Amino acid sequence: MVASSVLGFPRIGANREVKKAVEAYWAGKISADDLTKAAAEVKKTSWNSLKERGVEIIPSGDFSLYDHILDHSAAFNVIPKRYLGHNLSPLDVYFAMGRGRQTKDVDVPASEMKKWFDSNYHFVVPEFSEETDFKLNFNKALEEFKEAKAAGVATRPVVVGPITFLALGKASKEAKPGFQPISLLPKILPVYKQLLADLKSAGAEWVQIDEPILVLDVAANYEKQFTTAYADLAPVAPKILLATYYGRLDSNLSFVAKLPIAGLHIDLDRAPAQLDEVIAAVKPTPIVLSLGVVSGRNIWKTDFEAALKLGKKAVDALGSDRVIIATSSSLLHTPVTLAAEKKLTEEQKDWFSFALEKAEEVAVIAAVLSGSQDPKVSKALEANKASITKRRDFERNSDDAVRKRVAAITPDMLERKSPFSVRKEIQKETLKLPKFPTTTIGSFPQTQEIRTARAKLGKKEITAEQYEDFIKKEIESVVRIQEKIGLDLLVHGEPERNDMVQYFGELLEGFVFTQNGWVQSYGSRYVRPPIVVSDVSRPTPMTVKWSSYAQSVTEKPMKGMLTGPVTILNWSFPRADVSREVQCKQLALALRDEVIDLEKAGIKAVQVDEPALREGLPLRKADWDAYLGWALPSFKLATAGVSDALQTHSHFCYSDFDDIFPSIQALDADVISIEASKSDMKLLNTFKHYGYSNQIGPGVYDIHSPRVPSEQEIKDRLKDMLAILPSDLLFVNPDCGLKTRAWKETEASLINLVNAARWARETY
Ligand code: GLN
Ligand code: ZN
Repeated sequence: MVASSVLGFPRIGANREVKKAVEAYWAGKISADDLTKAAAEVKKTSWNSLKERGVEIIPSGDFSLYDHILDHSAAFNVIPKRYLGHNLSPLDVYFAMGRGRQTKDVDVPASEMKKWFDSNYHFVVPEFSEETDFKLNFNKALEEFKEAKAAGVATRPVVVGPITFLALGKASKEAKPGFQPISLLPKILPVYKQLLADLKSAGAEWVQIDEPILVLDVAANYEKQFTTAYADLAPVAPKILLATYYGRLDSNLSFVAKLPIAGLHIDLDRAPAQLDEVIAAVKPTPIVLSLGVVSGRNIWKTDFEAALKLGKKAVDALGSDRVIIATSSSLLHTPVTLAAEKKLTEEQKDWFSFALEKAEEVAVIAAVLSGSQDPKVSKALEANKASITKRRDFERNSDDAVRKRVAAITPDMLERKSPFSVRKEIQKETLKLPKFPTTTIGSFPQTQEIRTARAKLGKKEITAEQYEDFIKKEIESVVRIQEKIGLDLLVHGEPERNDMVQYFGELLEGFVFTQNGWVQSYGSRYVRPPIVVSDVSRPTPMTVKWSSYAQSVTEKPMKGMLTGPVTILNWSFPRADVSREVQCKQLALALRDEVIDLEKAGIKAVQVDEPALREGLPLRKADWDAYLGWALPSFKLATAGVSDALQTHSHFCYSDFDDIFPSIQALDADVISIEASKSDMKLLNTFKHYGYSNQIGPGVYDIHSPRVPSEQEIKDRLKDMLAILPSDLLFVNPDCGLKTRAWKETEASLINLVNAARWARETY
């Protein structure tokens, strides 16, 4: 029999119970006990709903109140000293590590957070040193295994693997130079053994050990570590299913297939082509193969026919007892259930599968492969066929004009008319900016008043006209404030935007939105990504009204503000039927029209933000060129349709430029602004190494904290930058948008920024 399995489940709860309880606990409104109870309810519901949907292998231990890597650190006593000794409960130490803690007795910042592989989920980075004293503070996998058992559900506990855990961590400040976390493997293995042995004695037959690091190039360096670790763990552990996801094993397969594991999970959503070689590698072994055919990363209904083909191949080669049908990864990246969507049409709902619907899919696919005669199964199979056919019809009848336009893109459309050196002189004339021009990244504080007005419009408590008047007043007031502060290149402040992607998605043709499609970004922060469902086009201008209004109330130049094509795509659920390249180019064409319209409306500078360009980089370096091969041209397509006089800007929310700097340079934006305040040295070294030919504004202060930078600090930063960058290329700006800040610190910081720029003009 072919079994069915889910690798992990969303933690939020169908009605956001966990998010609400966690935040209520932080606010002191509920006790730790109440929080535990709320979490227990959600876990129980999730396990039972998976069981009801026919999933045989149900995960436990994957739940988290904040982040599963943070759970693992806390459980293994990987707790930086700064969080200890404050008389906090273990739960509060845990949250302090995740989000920092600032009370009258304790003031500790949060640990570093990093993007989890190529997803928009962030994990809390573990910190290791020679002194790290691993011990099992608690056995979360075991606790949840027992909790599920008590609720009547047998589960397969999930544990983060030792190599992935160490490799994703960083050396703490206390570590000696050159220290590598992976060197701690011999020290951590005894703790793993204890954890696994406990699971075994509690009756767990299998354990899922997650080693997603195996889909990265770096894992090739860890062959020895994998071999020793699993030889050490296997004898005491339940049967080990080694789970890999988000990509392909590639050359790592050669040593993985030799590990003493009982099962191997591979991602066939991201990397279906690896199936043949994986089958060949495991065939001579007793390893059970878990096929990730139902996407854990996207929300489209699985095409059963395609999945069955892959499944059948494995069954033919290995026999049905050695095959499991599974989700490609944890379902952490998908919303809980479609049942909660009341506004999608029946036609649209028929296209999608969220977590619970996906659970049903794995169960049905496994049942078909097992030869089930159950009429419910054949009905589900038929219904799937009908849905997929309807969706394909819809796709075929999508917007032909858009496709023709994409096909007609020519290389000259990607280039500005003249090189930067020429544009720069023309722009000097049109914009008349002083040396060291000051500007901001776009948004100004999103006040409660703004959010209330938007909510009222949504509930139709105010009319569109009233809302428009409100926004115009906001814009005018933001313009006056910038004039008063003395900024040179102004922005309209983005008060009309709920979110930098959703705002555009709602105005473009080709997107749909969910009401309840929450996906965890980090901690208790969840986002609702828009879904690209068909060819994308722009029925009407999206920002011209606001930008030209803003320009009409000031003599100073106004910078138009757009989100770039790559970022819109990366922060949405993309279509599965056409490539990301095609979707990105469609977005780029829509944005190109917008940039051209902004110029026609008299705007002289336009910023196209691409903060997500970097996170879209594929996990394997071998795939980078393919990605950059369409991502960079898409940006250029969006921005190159204007005259030399229009100054194009772009913004990036990261400073880790080492490996991508030449690509940023190749975008040929007239000005880029980047996050720089958190790691200047690294960034400056990159500049030293590559040089930069166009204009650039490395952020001069960190907007992620309410702290006001002093004028002197900003001057010092400018001095550092001017030691490396030519003075006529430098812009002076904060390192990101100001929407999350309050007005008080915003004004104070910007006054210091303008004063520092004035000083630079006199000094350099
Ligand atoms: N223009 C956007 C803003 O200022 C940019 C946001 C971002 O970089 N994430 O908010
Ligand atoms: Zn930013």
